[in-house]
Amino acid sequence: MKSQEIRSKFLSFFEQKKHSIVPSAPMVLKDDPTLMFVNSGMAPFKEYFLGNAKPINNRIADSQKCLRVSGKHNDLEEVGYDTYHHTLFEMLGNWSFGDYFKKEAIAWAWELLTEVYRIDKNMLYVTVFEGSNDVDKLPMDTEAYDFWKQHIAEDRILKGDKKDNFWEMGDQGPCGPCSEIHVDIRSAEEKAKVDGRDLINQDHPQVVEIWNLVFMQYNRKANGSLESLPDKHIDTGMGFERLCMVLQGVQSNYDTDVFTPIIREIETITGKTYGNDEPTDIAIRVISDHVRAVAFSIADGQLPSNTGAGYVIRRILRRAVRYGFTFLDKKEPFIYRLVDVLSHKMGAAFPELIAQKQLIENVIKEEEQSFLRTISSGIIDIEAIMKVINQAIYLHGIPKGRKEEEVRVISGKSAFDLYDTSGFPLDLTQLIAKENNFTVDVEGFNLEMQKQKDRSRAASETSTDDWTILNDEAEAEFVGYDTLEANVKLTRYRKVSSKKDGDRYQLVFNVTPFYPEGGGQVGDKGVLEDAHGNVVYILDTKKENNVIIHFAKNLPKHLNETFKAVVSSEHRDLTSSNHTATHLLHQALRVVLGNHVEQKGSLVKPKSLRFDFSHFSKVTTEQLQEIEDFVNARIEGKLPLEENRKVPMQQALKEGATALFGEKYGDTVRTVRFGQSFELCGGIHVKNTADIWHFKIVSEGAVASGIRRIEAITNKAVKEFYQSNNQSFFKIKSLLNNAKEPVKALQNLQEENTKLKKQIEALLKDKAKNIKGELKSELQDVNGIRFLAKKLDLDASGIKDIAFDLGSQFNNLFLLFATEQNGKALLSCYISKELVASKGLNAGQVVRELGQFIQGGGGGQPFFATAGGKKPDGIDEALAEAKKFIE
Ligand code: ATP
Ligand code: MG
Repeated sequence: MKSQEIRSKFLSFFEQKKHSIVPSAPMVLKDDPTLMFVNSGMAPFKEYFLGNAKPINNRIADSQKCLRVSGKHNDLEEVGYDTYHHTLFEMLGNWSFGDYFKKEAIAWAWELLTEVYRIDKNMLYVTVFEGSNDVDKLPMDTEAYDFWKQHIAEDRILKGDKKDNFWEMGDQGPCGPCSEIHVDIRSAEEKAKVDGRDLINQDHPQVVEIWNLVFMQYNRKANGSLESLPDKHIDTGMGFERLCMVLQGVQSNYDTDVFTPIIREIETITGKTYGNDEPTDIAIRVISDHVRAVAFSIADGQLPSNTGAGYVIRRILRRAVRYGFTFLDKKEPFIYRLVDVLSHKMGAAFPELIAQKQLIENVIKEEEQSFLRTISSGIIDIEAIMKVINQAIYLHGIPKGRKEEEVRVISGKSAFDLYDTSGFPLDLTQLIAKENNFTVDVEGFNLEMQKQKDRSRAASETSTDDWTILNDEAEAEFVGYDTLEANVKLTRYRKVSSKKDGDRYQLVFNVTPFYPEGGGQVGDKGVLEDAHGNVVYILDTKKENNVIIHFAKNLPKHLNETFKAVVSSEHRDLTSSNHTATHLLHQALRVVLGNHVEQKGSLVKPKSLRFDFSHFSKVTTEQLQEIEDFVNARIEGKLPLEENRKVPMQQALKEGATALFGEKYGDTVRTVRFGQSFELCGGIHVKNTADIWHFKIVSEGAVASGIRRIEAITNKAVKEFYQSNNQSFFKIKSLLNNAKEPVKALQNLQEENTKLKKQIEALLKDKAKNIKGELKSELQDVNGIRFLAKKLDLDASGIKDIAFDLGSQFNNLFLLFATEQNGKALLSCYISKELVASKGLNAGQVVRELGQFIQGGGGGQPFFATAGGKKPDGIDEALAEAKKFIE
């Protein structure tokens, strides 16, 4: 069975059981502060489990892209070494939100595996939770045990502890016991030798967990205690690639048709073969896995970068580059060439891969190039470190009482600095060290790593209290599209403390005019007033798991009163002006540059807007002007806002609304139209484009390969921009004696300046000629050497000319010239080449030693060198000392 069919059979099975099939959510999470990437099928549905939103159907099934590379689930180091853990994988899941529970979940899982996929029952084992004696004092999950008994022999039902059979979303929130389904795909002989039961959860590559059924029945509170959930939920996750391995009768995920085309391509490009030797195989598995993770992430809008989620992606790609470099001998970029096969193979299920293929290739290629450069410069650094140690051994020998191997060590600090500043991996440092008979102090490295982790943990440590619920009104309604003020009641609040911000309060209201950060637009600020004139400032507004949270420095005094919530109108007006301008800019870019332009990120603040988009060359000045004119024409056209707050997603797309990759949309969406600009958007806009007043681009540049960034301003900021330009202009004009035509006056000034410079140069040349004549007669004879040490009133290049000129006329010269310019001293030393050779004299050495008199330093070649210093008073002393070099 091909992988495509395996996936679609799963979905259609649950469709028949009345589940709605939904597409995979984007992998990068935007409104969950506890999680960077979706790491299990349930992550996109958290808001349903928390009761913050309602799903379209109580039964849902999907295939979700998951990434396990950070936080609680981090499989990165396993990937490549084993054959069944990936960074990116698909998790097939079926969900019940307060609908069916253990009985159906178990029965259907069994039916699907044994009747639809026809997996031999004798290959399967299941586990149930055995209960716990710790503080939670949980009973064994006898319910699950009894349901399983109806399908599978009792000796195939194993009991497991909390680690394997109790699932928690995080430190807080819904959780419950789970049942795992394991499969044993070993040969009959091996099964006869070792019982499968003994290999469950023992990291055996052919006895693996394929499906986990989680029964969510508790809620974990901030104080660590558990309470029963009123609505019980089902959350299941089956590893798609592992299922393919079982159904395709192979022994490794990498031998399924999910991976073989990529592996064939790696073999073709590198000339290596998969399946012959372990280091090569590991490298090939690493690369075939990582290219998927990186490509999907870029398609979802998360580019490699220096911070946060982008940095995680960068590290994955670098890991792949590093394995290719060391084990496949690839010293030039090649991973980007795998994107073609990948998008071919998976494009049907994930069309974003096809739509963004070129961008993905460009970004990966540039990252590869830059990391390969890092690797080469890192290798040079390591070689330099080893050279210093080798020289010390050569000069001083091995210190008494120590062995040679104790000295030939790259310190943990050096290895860590390489890793920390340029991402140079420790294992590569070790490899190079070993090739040169060195070792690396790994313990020291780990210590440095731990120190850094402690530092960043201390900086980001936060503690979050449980919510205090004041009343149980439904989810907070957002009324901010129509008004900046509303009477609100506090429904819940909690305290969040961190080193960085101190104590903050998070407030939730029954209704709110405050816009929560989202869609690139910053959150609203404002105040909360009670009837007694008390005011609490709202510093920011964010959405978390679908709840609108207001951040306040203080808790309101009278919690149960009605408050007047007022959004800062200045903040809001300027922000909405920039938001609408962003839409017009997006439209302009597609018209002026072409339809390949995709939005890749935006930031809309009161002060300015920033817009990132895919485009492969610099935007020319003419194009920028055209774009600016296009936007301003629409501002002058006074286009009214036409919005539709609730349109079915499919209908909006059919009508031509622009949607973004990597954005999570609901079933109904809001559309925003200004003339021909028509987008899906939840943000705040002006009522009429005329409110923007004017649009001005202030910068254009590259942020990554194939990604450009435009920064622009509107409204008041444009006025300020022109005002400040105007002020500068008047200042310049007054400096030009209020010339009628300042441009012309400035040009004249420049011309005059050039003419004067030329005249000075000519004068200096004349002067040098005269000086030369004088100097010749001043040369002294010291031990057969023509010597002169003198202060001259010339600049550095004039002195150099004279020295070289004298050098071409006389042999056996030793000259030291000094000059003082702008309060600084300069020494120049010239020594004829034959003196350098015969007497071992060195001009560099001379200026370095004499440099101390002028408090400076310098260097150069043995026959000519200069030193600069900040103490001109020392010039005479330096000149006086010069003779000692030849005496
Ligand atoms: P394992 O112990 O094998 O790491 P897990 O307990 O971490 O698995 P769950 O968190 O229960 O797995 O995830 C549900 C299913 O997702 C697993 O049964 C497995 O089939 C699949 N899965 C988990 N992690 C990975 C991974 N890194 N790569 C591929 N599939 C995975
Ligand atoms: Mg795991």
